[in-house]
Amino acid sequence: MLDRQAILEGLLETDPARTEALWARADAVRAERVGPAVHLRGLVEVSNHCVRQCAYCGLSACAPRVERYRMSREDILDCARRARDFGFGTVVLQGGEDPGLTGPFVAETIRQLKAETGLAVTLSLGEREDAELRAWRAAGADRYLLRFETTDPELYRAIHPSLPGTVSDRIRQLLRMRELGYEIGTGVMVGIPGQTWDTLAQDIWTFRDHDMDMIGIGPYIPSPGTPLAGDLGAALARRAGARQVPADETTTLKAVALTRLLCPETNIPSTTALATIDPGAGRANGLLRGANVVMPNLTQPRYRVLYQIYPGKAGLHETADVTREKLEAQIHGLGRSIGRGPGGRGRANFSD
Ligand code: SAH
Repeated sequence: MLDRQAILEGLLETDPARTEALWARADAVRAERVGPAVHLRGLVEVSNHCVRQCAYCGLSACAPRVERYRMSREDILDCARRARDFGFGTVVLQGGEDPGLTGPFVAETIRQLKAETGLAVTLSLGEREDAELRAWRAAGADRYLLRFETTDPELYRAIHPSLPGTVSDRIRQLLRMRELGYEIGTGVMVGIPGQTWDTLAQDIWTFRDHDMDMIGIGPYIPSPGTPLAGDLGAALARRAGARQVPADETTTLKAVALTRLLCPETNIPSTTALATIDPGAGRANGLLRGANVVMPNLTQPRYRVLYQIYPGKAGLHETADVTREKLEAQIHGLGRSIGRGPGGRGRANFSD
C-alpha cells in the first residue's frame, strides 16, 4: 500500500522507466479490479446560472457577458432519452449552483426521467440543502458529484470566496450524502495556481481516506477573465514558488494512475479537461492509465456553447451522435468494451 510519501514520490517521478512502470501498474489494477468495461455517462449541462464566485470558473456569478440559460424539463428528458437510445447506463445532470433549479423541479425531473428511461441518475449541482438532497434521493437520484477541489484550507478559501464553508465542511457534506444513500464522487483540478506537490499528494490521500466512489481529476485550464487566470492566480503561483504543480497532461495522468492504485475499485473518468488539453490522445491516455469511465456530452449544441467553464471544451461544436461514435470507436480500438447497465462502483462494474 502506498503511503503519502510514496504518492509524493510518484508525482515527482521523472525517470521514464519508473513512470512507465506506474502506468502499467495502474492499468493492471484497473483491469483486475473493475475490468475491461468503459462506462459511458451522458452529461447534461442543465443550467449555466450560478450564485457562486469560484475563481477558476467561467460561469461564476461575476463573469461578465455570459448568456445564461436553464433547460426546460422537456430539454432534459430529451437528453436522457438519447442517453438511453445510445445504450448509456447513466445520465449526469450538471449545472451551476442555481436556485432557479428548485428542489421540486429537480425532484419531479428525476422522477420522470427514472420512470421513462430507468437510467441511473448522477447529480452535480453544487452545494444544496439537506432537505433537497433527501428529496432528490427519494425521487431516485443515485449519485452526487461534488469536487472538493483542494485540501489546502487557505487555497480553498482563496478560490471559493463566496462559499460559506471550509473544505472540511465540503467533505462532511459529501459524507452526509453518502449517509442519505448516494454514491459520492469528488475530485480536484491538477495545477491550479497555489497547488503544491504536497497539496496534490494530500488530495489523493484524502480520496482514499474517505473511500470515494467516484474521483474526477482533470488539468486546470485558465478561463479568461476569471481571477485565477489573472492577478489572484499570479499571486498564488508566486506563493507556491518552485513547489507549484504544472497543469499538464503527464502530471494529470500520474494523479489518475496513483489514485487508481490507492482506490482500486472506484470509478475514475478520463475527463473532458484532459481531452481538451490533448485532443488527439488525452482521452485514450486516461483510459490506459487507470480510468474506466467517460462522460460524453449530450447537451443540445445551442446550450453547450454557453456552458464554458473553461475555453475550448472538447467536443464543443459536435452533436451528441458524433461524439458517441468517435468514443465507441476509440474504446474498441483500445481493446476495451462499452459498459452495460448502471456501472456502480467496484465489482458491480466487472461484468459488462
Ligand atoms: N457547479 C458544480 C459543477 C461544476 S463543473 C459544482 O461546483 O460542483 C465541474 C468541475 O469542473 C468543477 O468541480 C471543477 O473542478 C472543474 N472546473 C471548473 N473550472 C475549471 C477550469 N477552469 N479548468 C478545469 N476544470 C475546471
